[in-house]
Amino acid sequence: MKISNKLKSRQQPFCSLEFFPPREREQWPAFFDIAGRLRAAAPEFVSITYGAGGSTQDNTLEVARHLHSELGFETLVHLTCVKSSREKIDAFLNSLADAGIENILALRGDPPRGESYDWSGAEFRYAGDLVRYVRDKHPNFEVGVAAYPYPHPESGSFQSDRRYTQQKIQAGASFVITQLMFDVREYFDLVERLNSLGIMVPIIPGVLPVLSLESLRRTLSMCGANMPGKLYFQLEEAHNQGGPEAVKEAGTRFAVEQCRKLLEWGAPGVHLYTLNRAETCLRIVDELRACGALPKPE
Ligand SMILES: Cc1cc2nc3c(=O)[nH]c(=O)nc-3n(C[C@H](O)[C@H](O)[C@H](O)COP(=O)(O)OP(=O)(O)OC[C@H]3O[C@@H](n4cnc5c(N)ncnc54)[C@H](O)[C@@H]3O)c2cc1C
Repeated sequence: MKISNKLKSRQQPFCSLEFFPPREREQWPAFFDIAGRLRAAAPEFVSITYGAGGSTQDNTLEVARHLHSELGFETLVHLTCVKSSREKIDAFLNSLADAGIENILALRGDPPRGESYDWSGAEFRYAGDLVRYVRDKHPNFEVGVAAYPYPHPESGSFQSDRRYTQQKIQAGASFVITQLMFDVREYFDLVERLNSLGIMVPIIPGVLPVLSLESLRRTLSMCGANMPGKLYFQLEEAHNQGGPEAVKEAGTRFAVEQCRKLLEWGAPGVHLYTLNRAETCLRIVDELRACGALPKPE
């Protein structure tokens, strides 16, 4: 089912979950076991990332098929267009259609780190080009796009970043998932600005539960997210007093509080970056149900 139709018919807040395809096949059974356990969170949909460097694109397809057909999740498949071609995009989308998958998240992706990429002959330059192409040649797919609560690292200004986001949606995207943020005001500011540009599609905030200081540092350096100094200080304090387990506990508690505020202040749902772990997300969802921010399962 198309995600926008699901969201339209839904009156209550929801969660969705993001996975990445494990690189090695030997890791797949354990991964599918984790994904299966996360059915208890009753996600509105799950999404599966797509490796821009080329290494995991086939994995994305196979893992997506399994999530959709075997585990019964409404599945959103990420698709990047950097270094890709129309032919390759067509083949990928045709395989998704054969698997009964109807939703993609259209992204530009990034050239491999350290590589200076010549865009001059590129068939797709920006995510907006991919949105237009898919809407035109594969109209049966529903298309979502990414947006950034703070400006994307390459954008010239806040204003231009918002304008390009607006253009992607006007090109035919019907929902948005945001890059992770820790300060909920950044999300509501993004929503307000896109609304003021006439964009009224669902904008789903991305939430990353912090599980370790090391992975947090890596993520921040990759995506350029802002981290409130107070939170970073709290996590360091937790580490000094109780080590990695205490960081995980503090990170999980922060994520519960962040999701609660997002949902109670009007976000349609929360998109949890699971990092392919089950316990933390199950706990977050349980706590959100307990405080009434998410509906209890029927
Ligand atoms: C929810 C989410 C999921 C993601 N999943 C993946 C994934 O699975 N695989 C992966 O490799 N990466 C993923 N990414 C990362 C993403 O690929 C990078 O952030 C990438 O740098 C930008 O992708 P985009 O689709 O936002 O690009 P775009 O929308 O094309 O924007 C890229 C930059 O170009 C600017 N821009 C856009 N349009 C124009 C225009 N017409 N003219 C001039 N400038 C323009 C924007 O302001 C921005 O600075 C994800 C990001 C998010 C937020």
